[in-house]
Amino acid sequence: MKNEYDVIVVGAGPAGSMAARCAAEQGVSVLMLEKDRDVGYPVRCGEAVTKRSVEKFIEPDDKWITAKISKFSFTSPDGNEVVIDFKSVQGYVLERRIFDYELAKNASKAGAEVVTRAYVNGLIRENGKTCGVKVEYRGEQKIIRSKIVIGADGTESRVGRWAGLKTHIDFRDMECCFQVTAANVSVNQDTLYFYFGKDVAPGGYFWVFPKGSDIANVGLGIDGMEGKKRSALSYLNSNLDRLYPQASILTQVAGGVPCSVTLEQISGEGIMLAGDAARQVNPLSGGGIASGMMGGSIAGRIAGEAIRKNNLKHIYSYDKEWHNERGKTHEIFNRLKEGIYGFTDNDFNKIMRKIKEVAPEKRTMNKLFMIALVNKPSLLIDVAKVIID
Ligand SMILES: Cc1cc2nc3c(=O)[nH]c(=O)nc-3n(C[C@H](O)[C@H](O)[C@H](O)COP(=O)(O)OP(=O)(O)OC[C@H]3O[C@@H](n4cnc5c(N)ncnc54)[C@H](O)[C@@H]3O)c2cc1C
Repeated sequence: MKNEYDVIVVGAGPAGSMAARCAAEQGVSVLMLEKDRDVGYPVRCGEAVTKRSVEKFIEPDDKWITAKISKFSFTSPDGNEVVIDFKSVQGYVLERRIFDYELAKNASKAGAEVVTRAYVNGLIRENGKTCGVKVEYRGEQKIIRSKIVIGADGTESRVGRWAGLKTHIDFRDMECCFQVTAANVSVNQDTLYFYFGKDVAPGGYFWVFPKGSDIANVGLGIDGMEGKKRSALSYLNSNLDRLYPQASILTQVAGGVPCSVTLEQISGEGIMLAGDAARQVNPLSGGGIASGMMGGSIAGRIAGEAIRKNNLKHIYSYDKEWHNERGKTHEIFNRLKEGIYGFTDNDFNKIMRKIKEVAPEKRTMNKLFMIALVNKPSLLIDVAKVIID
């Protein structure tokens, strides 16, 4: 590690690695710091992504794909199941431990220096401007200067707050998640399963994502306010007892997913935020891998351009570019989320019965949303704006 870089990225998740790679591709010096011993571990994720969103950034490789998804299954509170068959591969369940490694490797290949077990515990701030980080590395406290710091330090991000950005998120919007990777769970390897209902996952959903023969990620997210009354773990245990009493738990993780619109400001003097730290998660699905990669890639490229052009004000264009690329759509998804998560069990049951009346070959995600939101015309306009396929 040198004492100075053009760009320092804090956190080596998908957002951080993409930021480091895209900044390095601009020919500037980049350091990415990760507090954990391993990039990509521990994994706190259901690991499902859409194919097209990751393919923009990395060539698919079977070494980090554990299941190829062509069907979605939705189950209502009264146990009615509807399957949407896309007829072709639409998504993957990843092995994030390998996927995240690969992203970090690509950042390194592009020229970024990657250092693990490097815990950033503060920023260097001069005259209201961020100009580096304080880092604890191998028992030593170091100061490393940079022109730009990109905070990609995940849900519990502190970098943004240290830099004076407003990072507060309403408790309601922080989905409380608990997930296990379980053996003895036999499900179709081409299907993602979603279950809804107030006793199943209030203000969220329960998921089963296949991860190879007899193994699946089984988890749920519930509304933050609901989580205060009864824990996500307690809901998960009752779903597991009901559906997979024979499951053996191999790993378990808990975490929060910020299901809100993006922070009002994601850049400032010498600072940019990306991924969960910037609240770039898709608020409807809770998916943050691909959108974090998108946010990181834009942040990294703009940081690199700012240095090359010797115009640090250029980093302020990040807010607008993100907004146009994904932020605007996330605002619409957030409104849809508010509508859908307000459904009663009866609403879900009725919707599922209606969808069952549609011939299987005519079922699409658009049709599903059209039926679900038929009594909420203003949200139907939102669906039309984003075309969910
Ligand atoms: C239970 C659960 C299930 C989920 N399922 C899915 C899913 O199926 N699909 C999907 O798309 N998304 C899912 N998500 C969300 C997804 O995991 C995140 O949105 C995604 O990981 C965000 O990437 P990121 O790079 O912003 O942050 P992270 O992946 O969290 O990476 C942040 C990194 O920063 C490091 N770091 C933090 N602080 C410091 C510091 N001070 N110094 C140095 N390093 C630091 C961390 O160790 C970490 O490696 C799920 C989340 C949870 C909790």
